[in-house]
Amino acid sequence: MSEASHYWIINARIPHCFIDSSLHESETILAPTLQRDRLFPCNVEINNGHLVQMMANSPDSLAAIPTESVAIVDAKQGMLIPCFADLHTHLDKGHIWERSPNLDGTFQGALNGIYKDCTENKNWHYEDLYRRMEFGLKCSYAHGTKAIRTHLDCPPHQFETTFQVFRELREKWKDKITLQAVSLVPLSYFDTPDGEEFADAIADVGAIIGGIAHMVPEFEKYLGAIFKLATARNLSLDFHTDETDDPQSQTLRRVAAAGLEYDFKAQIICGHCCSLATQDHETAAAAIALVKKANIGIVSLPMCNLYLQDRVADRTPRWRGVTLAKELDAQAVKVAISSDNCRDPFYGFGDHDMLQVFSMGAKILHLDTPYDNWIESVTSRPASLMGLSNVGKIEIGQAADLILFKARSYSELLSRPQGDRVVFRDGVAIDRTLPDYAELDDLIFGE
Ligand SMILES: [Zn+2]
Repeated sequence: MSEASHYWIINARIPHCFIDSSLHESETILAPTLQRDRLFPCNVEINNGHLVQMMANSPDSLAAIPTESVAIVDAKQGMLIPCFADLHTHLDKGHIWERSPNLDGTFQGALNGIYKDCTENKNWHYEDLYRRMEFGLKCSYAHGTKAIRTHLDCPPHQFETTFQVFRELREKWKDKITLQAVSLVPLSYFDTPDGEEFADAIADVGAIIGGIAHMVPEFEKYLGAIFKLATARNLSLDFHTDETDDPQSQTLRRVAAAGLEYDFKAQIICGHCCSLATQDHETAAAAIALVKKANIGIVSLPMCNLYLQDRVADRTPRWRGVTLAKELDAQAVKVAISSDNCRDPFYGFGDHDMLQVFSMGAKILHLDTPYDNWIESVTSRPASLMGLSNVGKIEIGQAADLILFKARSYSELLSRPQGDRVVFRDGVAIDRTLPDYAELDDLIFGE
């Protein structure tokens, strides 16, 4: 692939949602397969690491490219998309599967597994966390991800080490991956005498206030404390809500109501929202209307939900565990999908590959009928919910952070792992070698 600093990528297919509307005029001449997939044939000029020109692909536009004086990358009708943004991960838990597996695969088994690994066995010392979290970053980068938000478990004995590692990795990786952190604690913690100090510590790191919402009688009181702490420090919020099939779990609706009540201006994200799919139509529609009104971004975690939800020993699962992504999208709520856990007790698989997340998400959530603009759910939408204007887009003047696939359609894209994709960062094809699992052997299996 080209190492030239000035070159054209020709014969690429770019999803419509990433194309400037001024290029759309030639839409009528598109082949039916391209119309169905909403892919647009394009040529893209890269110079000095930036995208400087984009044109609709046609015999005329190809003829206008000075092929004798500039390098050419022929995409051969392959799809070209912006680098990914992964809005909801748990880098601190990652890759401990062999050390602390979840042998019954249940949600409770996952909680027990993390408690044992982190609190009982005190495995999460500086080096353990640093190397496992960096392993996740290396995978993400190699697969084409440019921004990651990670939730970080904050039991009192852990907070300092975890956030020290986070700070160091954020700094070390800042040119490759924009890293954000969210606290992961029971929401009741913010309503204790320590809540204020904890919120200060989060603000000090430049992190985001978050935690796990449960249907408890004091829930509104906890929300009141959190919204007050976040507002005073100008922090945004990110909750785990309703990660259960119990229709009575309606923390999403109550977070939205609190956001409106406190007139909260910063971004709120709610992750999982599984029980929305088990509620009756009126209840769910009312919650979605409030979510829309409170401008909450929703992140669905289809792989983890498929794994943990509806898991009962010796019984086949009956539902896929995911939230009402299509119904939320239909009301213009921003819906992202993300990877969540990776090779830990909450999800025994995964490789921080947002293409795999999109591929699994498309099948679990039926995002293929039609594909429409769902590719935004792993690119521009999570980026915008993270407040990042330079991620997840293909725009003139921006850094050429792009992923080029051999796949010429969504069917081809989502049928193979696309291990031969090319990731361009600042216009240069990166080394996509994945870290070796053996790197972590001493941490996971002992010396
Ligand atoms: Zn999570």
